[in-house]
Amino acid sequence: MHSKLSDHKFNKGVFKSGFSQLITALGKEEDWVHSKSPEYIWLALILNEEERTKQLEKCMYILKEMEDKISSKNLASPTLSGILSLNSKNLDIFINILNEADVLGLISPISVVLSSENEGLRKRLKGYLMTVDERIEKLNSVLENLVDHQSQLSTDVRYLIVYHSSILDKLKFPISQKSMIDGLIEYPYLDVEDEKMRYIRPMIRSTELGISFQFFNTDSTFNKNFWENIAKYMNCEMFLLRFERNENINLTELKSNLYESLKYYRDLIQNVEQNNTKLLVLTSILTYSYKRLLELVDHNLRQTISGRSIVRSCIENFMMTKYLLKNEGQHKDIWEEFQYYGIGNYKLIFERYREENPSVEGSHVQFDYLDLLVSEYINKEFIDMDTRYFGNGNIRKKFQEVDEDFLYKYIYEYDSQFEHGLWGAIRESSILKCNAPGHQYHGIPDIDNEQSLSDVGKDVQDILIRHLEVMNEVYPNPHLEK
Ligand SMILES: [Zn+2]
Repeated sequence: MHSKLSDHKFNKGVFKSGFSQLITALGKEEDWVHSKSPEYIWLALILNEEERTKQLEKCMYILKEMEDKISSKNLASPTLSGILSLNSKNLDIFINILNEADVLGLISPISVVLSSENEGLRKRLKGYLMTVDERIEKLNSVLENLVDHQSQLSTDVRYLIVYHSSILDKLKFPISQKSMIDGLIEYPYLDVEDEKMRYIRPMIRSTELGISFQFFNTDSTFNKNFWENIAKYMNCEMFLLRFERNENINLTELKSNLYESLKYYRDLIQNVEQNNTKLLVLTSILTYSYKRLLELVDHNLRQTISGRSIVRSCIENFMMTKYLLKNEGQHKDIWEEFQYYGIGNYKLIFERYREENPSVEGSHVQFDYLDLLVSEYINKEFIDMDTRYFGNGNIRKKFQEVDEDFLYKYIYEYDSQFEHGLWGAIRESSILKCNAPGHQYHGIPDIDNEQSLSDVGKDVQDILIRHLEVMNEVYPNPHLEK
């Protein structure tokens, strides 16, 4: 279930979801994957073998025996770190119980993650009867199910935690909750597909959560060592997402259509309308988008970061075209003002350079050339104009003014994340995930460029077609009438 954005409260610049406002987020030490799975992995290893009911009964027998023979005075909860802290006499008792239940061999894989401080248990587990690889494989297959706190295996483990509390009399249900108690008693014997499971499973999980808030204690050193040791033995399993190119979109066709249309406007400028600033500005903006399309097609960039930069640029050109046309009537000469705004930016950069005269040899910024371009305009009579009008400050307002807020909200802003190298974009494009449960799904920098992105083809096509339509309304193009 997804919560709507409107369910979120804006809190000092960060969105907090409604859910996390209800309960305090669990820290790393208390949550299921990081701390509980290592603590209860020994039960999961027993459960993961053979028939479910039989193994649940064995675990219940073991927990009962542990309480009788070791007692909660020495072991408050059946956690692995608790077991590791038992004295030698109680460890022997524990191992005997496991032997009686015939499960010692199932638990022995744990020995690979025990360090020399845990020599007592490690020796008694006789892990050497299996190879390191075999033991790691067992741990891995259990962790795969255990990292999902709602899996059947996790729910079974959580049932055992609830069961253990009931032995200790820590579990109190009001008498009116008889159906809950019946459900708990029946649980080990119900088929996992049984209808009743649909309400018993969530009940077990919430009961376990309630118990844990009161009684679960974990030793963070144990946790840290567990994951560090297990990570040492496992190889990274990198995974990436495959995105297919949208074969229905033919940008080569779009490229030649756009060329034909632009050719008409160019001929018009060259032969008829040499001094039409409006035609020159509008055609040139579209030409800029066309050149970005060429980059996209000729260099096969549809599924790259640059592809996103290209769509963003085409969107902005399209929006600016509509914006200029819409505001034309309110200006003396908006086409000239638009040029002065851009050239003014060049001038600013050049003036800064002239003042400070830094060493910029070899840079792609050719300052002398910038100056030359600026001078094309300076020589003309300078009109006092408000060029702030085109600045970036209120870009969203401009999108809204020309009824393109949708483009801004859903596409432009997303592409901006890539342009600015913000974390969402970095995560999506440059980080792969490790799928090894023992590695807790860490990220891997994608330096071999394996991760491609989804195709920008359709968006570029839609925007350029719409851009061309707007242009055609102002300057009807015989090429489009065909
Ligand atoms: Zn890894």
